[in-house]
Amino acid sequence: MVRTRFAPSPTGFLHIGSLRTALYAYVMAKHDDGQFILRIEDTDVKREVTGSVESLKSTLKKFGLNWDEYYLQSERLDIYKKAAEKFIKDGNAYYCQCDSKELRNPCRDKNFTSGAIRLKVPDNQTVSYYDFVHKKEISWETNGVYDATLLKTDGFPTYHLAAMVDDLDMNITHILRGHDWMPSTPIHLLVFKYLGGTCPEIGHLSDILNAKTGKKLSKRRDSVMVEDFIKEGYLPEALLNFVMLLGWAPKDNRELYTLDEFVKEFDVNGFQEANPRFEDKKLKWFNGHYLRQKSDEELINLIDFPDKAKLRQILPLIKDRLVTLNDFTELTTFFFKAPDVMSELNKDHLQFAIDNYDILVKGELIDDIKAKGWKVGDFFMTIRIAICGSKSTPPITETMLVLGRDESIKRLIASQAKS
Ligand code: GLU
Repeated sequence: MVRTRFAPSPTGFLHIGSLRTALYAYVMAKHDDGQFILRIEDTDVKREVTGSVESLKSTLKKFGLNWDEYYLQSERLDIYKKAAEKFIKDGNAYYCQCDSKELRNPCRDKNFTSGAIRLKVPDNQTVSYYDFVHKKEISWETNGVYDATLLKTDGFPTYHLAAMVDDLDMNITHILRGHDWMPSTPIHLLVFKYLGGTCPEIGHLSDILNAKTGKKLSKRRDSVMVEDFIKEGYLPEALLNFVMLLGWAPKDNRELYTLDEFVKEFDVNGFQEANPRFEDKKLKWFNGHYLRQKSDEELINLIDFPDKAKLRQILPLIKDRLVTLNDFTELTTFFFKAPDVMSELNKDHLQFAIDNYDILVKGELIDDIKAKGWKVGDFFMTIRIAICGSKSTPPITETMLVLGRDESIKRLIASQAKS
C-alpha cells in the first residue's frame, strides 16, 4: 500500500512549488489506492507564522487534495525525545554543549550527560539510495557528512530527527520532497538506519525556474503564493493542471488533466529531472481553458460582482475574452461608465447610427451602410469607439442592447459633439 505525505512547515502561505509537491504526493498515493497524509512540521517555533496551519489546510482543500490522516509534530514531542535518547543509548549520538561547526563536533568525546543531541556520523562508510525522481543511485562518503543536531536543548527535534521518526512511524512508503533536501539525505539515511526501520523510497523534485531569468523561483523576487494566484482570478483546476506539468510529463503530449484524470494516468516514470520553467502564458492558457468549461451560472457565482442580474446580461458578451476572473472588471468598465472619447470620429457614421438606432441594433442596417458607400467595418469601428471607448469590444449591437437605448444614444451624441 502506497502511503505518502505532504509535510509543510507552517511558515506562511502555500508556495506554488509546495502545491506541486503536495499534488504529486497525493496522486502517487491515490493512483495506487493508497493514503495521503498531511503532517504539519511545526517544531521550529521561531519560524512559525500564526494562522498558517488553517490557511494551508483550506488551500489544500480548495484544490481537492484531501488527506486521509493528519498529524501535528508539536503534539508528538515525547516520541522524538525518546527516539533521540535511544540514539544515545545505542551509541549513535552524543550530548553536545557547544555550537562548533566542525564536521566532527568536539563534544563527541566529552561524554556530557546533557545538552543538544547530535548524530555520531560513522567514518569511512558509504551511504546511498535510489532516487525515484532522478532515477538513479546517489551516494555519499560519510567522512564528508557532519554530526547533525537531532534534538535541540529546548527539547524540540530538528527536521533530521522528527521527519525520519515520523516517516517510519507513519509507514510512509515514498518521500517526495524539494530538491533543497538532497544534501541532507546522507544524514537521513543514517537516521533511518539507526532507528532500525526500512528506509522509505525517496524522490527529490526539480526546482521551478523563473522563465525569464532561469533562476529558481523565490518568495522575494517572484509571485509564488498560491493564495495570491487565486486572488488574481486563477481557478484552482487551472493552477493544478499547470503545476502537474512542471516536473512531470506524460508519454504522449497530453496537457489537459483534471485531478481525477491525473490520478488515473499518473506514472512515476513521468517525473522529469530537468528544472521546469514557470511560463505565465501557459498558466493563462490553462485558466482561459477552464474558465470556458464553466457554465454561465458557475462563473456568475465565482465573479466578485454584486449585481448578479447585470452580470448575467454582460457575461455572455465577454466570456470568451476572460483570461482570469479579475479581467471581468477591466473588460466591462464601459458598461458602467461612459468612455472618454479621445479620437475624432466620423460624424456622419454617428448621425446615421443615431437616426437609425432601432434598425441598427436589430442588425438590419448593413445594406443601408453599404448603400451610403461606407465600409461596414469602418462604420462599426466608429460605433465601437463611441460606445465603449475601445477598438476591441464585445459584439457591439449586443453591447448596445445591454446598455439600453437611452444610454447608447447618449454616448453616440456625446461623441458626435466632441468630433
Ligand atoms: N517541513 C519540510 C519543509 O517544509 C518538509 C520537507 C519534507 O517533505 O520532508 O520543507
